[in-house]
Amino acid sequence: MHDAAFDAAGIDARYVLIELEPDAVEGAVTAARGSDWLGLGVTAPYKRTVAGLCDEVEPDAATIGAVNNVVRTDAGRLVGFNSDAPGFRAGVELAMGRPIAGMDVVAVGAGGAAHAVVFACLDGGARRVLIANRTPSAARDLADRFARAGTGSVAGVGLDDPAFAAALASADLAVNATTVGMVDAGVTIPVELLPAGATVFDLVYVPAETPLVRAARERGLRAANGSEMLIAQAAIAFERWTGVGGMAGVMRAAVAPLLADPGARA
Ligand code: NAP
Repeated sequence: MHDAAFDAAGIDARYVLIELEPDAVEGAVTAARGSDWLGLGVTAPYKRTVAGLCDEVEPDAATIGAVNNVVRTDAGRLVGFNSDAPGFRAGVELAMGRPIAGMDVVAVGAGGAAHAVVFACLDGGARRVLIANRTPSAARDLADRFARAGTGSVAGVGLDDPAFAAALASADLAVNATTVGMVDAGVTIPVELLPAGATVFDLVYVPAETPLVRAARERGLRAANGSEMLIAQAAIAFERWTGVGGMAGVMRAAVAPLLADPGARA
């Protein structure tokens, strides 16, 4: 995605994948202060660690508690930001054809991605957000963290709490922000409980039709996987690194064959 965008923009740069053991992260971030770097993309499990190594963390990323991208300024300072939250919002609003404002949302999960999802919903003006998670205490902690992130209400419960089923029955949007569907074939949201007008959004994007997306479509619901969030967050980061916007189309075209056939990666 990024290399296609660099080529389209005529920028002589490459996006390189570096796999690091935990004790090598600090050194890699320090190296990125060098003038040959535009910035960094960061993925699990280092989104919190890298936040602590930046010279500055933007307020939204600090509230979310995770940095998924870093931009290097001309002065060599590293500024951490979070593009997952605006990327999620762009992906959902594309899938639903309307803003998230005023919606009742149920989000399953309480990990790094769920932090960005819940922040994006509340910051975007959602009316109510219920977080349901396998480990209930993590859902409650996440709700407490964002209690003042917007005007909407937020609460956290376990997956077997009756409040989860009750919230699904009147939800506009139900989001899977767990790894379920990617690492195993399960479904976290009982789609039969959702009303007919609800949308299901699965952050997982491989396989293209996740078990949850398939179940939602079979129930007649609108459903989308996380590919548009992936593309949107990447285009946001690219613009921060290069000053060149409008690359989502180029990135979508580049990544589409890989998302349709993950085996093509090799
Ligand atoms: P994470 O921090 O490891 O969190 C994992 C979450 O999944 C936790 O809430 C965990 O619950 C839950 N979980 C794991 N196994 C489960 C199971 N068998 N049943 C119920 N819940 C289970 O992961 P993350 O970084 O938040 O990522 C979550 C997903 O989002 C990943 O699939 C990732 O690829 C995707 N993602 C997509 C995008 C995109 O652009 N589309 C961006 C970011 C992330 P516990 O708290 O109980 O362990």
